[in-house]
Amino acid sequence: MERPDKPERLDRFMAQANAAYYANHDPFRDFTTAPEISQVFGEILGLWAAIVWEQMGRPAPVLLAELGPGRGTLMRDARRAIGQAMPDFAAALRLHLVETSPRLRAAQAALLPDAVWHDDIATLPPGPMILLANEFLDALPIRQFVRRGAGWMERFVMEGRFIEAAATEAPGSVAAEGDVIEINEPARAIAATLAARLANQGGAALFLDYGPARSAAGDSLQALRTARPADPLADPGAADLTAHVDFQAFAAHAAAAQVHGPVQQGPFLAGLGLFQRSGRLARTQDATRASQMMHAAQRLAEPDRMGGLFKALAVCQPGQPVPPGFE
Ligand code: SAH
Repeated sequence: MERPDKPERLDRFMAQANAAYYANHDPFRDFTTAPEISQVFGEILGLWAAIVWEQMGRPAPVLLAELGPGRGTLMRDARRAIGQAMPDFAAALRLHLVETSPRLRAAQAALLPDAVWHDDIATLPPGPMILLANEFLDALPIRQFVRRGAGWMERFVMEGRFIEAAATEAPGSVAAEGDVIEINEPARAIAATLAARLANQGGAALFLDYGPARSAAGDSLQALRTARPADPLADPGAADLTAHVDFQAFAAHAAAAQVHGPVQQGPFLAGLGLFQRSGRLARTQDATRASQMMHAAQRLAEPDRMGGLFKALAVCQPGQPVPPGFE
């Protein structure tokens, strides 16, 4: 992708850069996600979905949906665990994947040949639904506003750097001079649409992603290229651009349904049996693989690694029992 030579609003820049990036790269050369670190991650989310399905009264058929499934690893592992633990749910579920990258759709189809693909959540068929999304919201484009004097400027991108223009709206009220406030409009729209749908038609959605539990000022835009931080503006389309998820704002926009969390990923996964399951699996492996498996579990759960910055948040139909991990 060419660098814009006239001012491009940051969210539009980020959307184009990521579309080009996901269409032309294997993102997993640049970053590693939880399902690629340990198969137990997807297995635990599959068991989470199975328990929620029981809590919903075992509707059949039921949609099992995922947003941004990457290589399809999470859902493959989830499905295997569901098939072993709850064959009735395995038989009732209809798999629907929301994915824009043709390249990743092909990878997903190799593992999940019976899935139906969608460009966005608008075309998901009606009915009760359980939805999973890991590291999806962080890839959605953000706007950035900067507090200047008594007003706000908005950030645009031109020739590899930021320029500021007077904001046509105010992202908040109080902030200190120079504070950056980020707004993820597509994430807010997804929260609102899903909450309305789940409230009306039943079901639950589970989001895992990184970001603070409470809204905070700060520039969290980042680029990763071969696992190293890169300049997010320099070479659009060559690196994966992400931003922290504002879970408080997301929860506020999902208020039509019942929101649980956010809770830290470490205690969430540990409470759902991450270490027991990894330990059982490790006992069937040779010493090297066994130690890799236990290290993978620690990487997902330890507070100073992925266990603290990553959070889990659930959106459920009001009146439904509290889903596992949020008690
Ligand atoms: N959930 C996977 C992949 C995370 S990477 C994992 O945990 O490994 C982000 C994923 O979201 C990729 O599959 C990417 O192609 C997809 N994606 C990014 N923006 C999207 C959008 N606007 N609509 C649908 N999918 C999107």
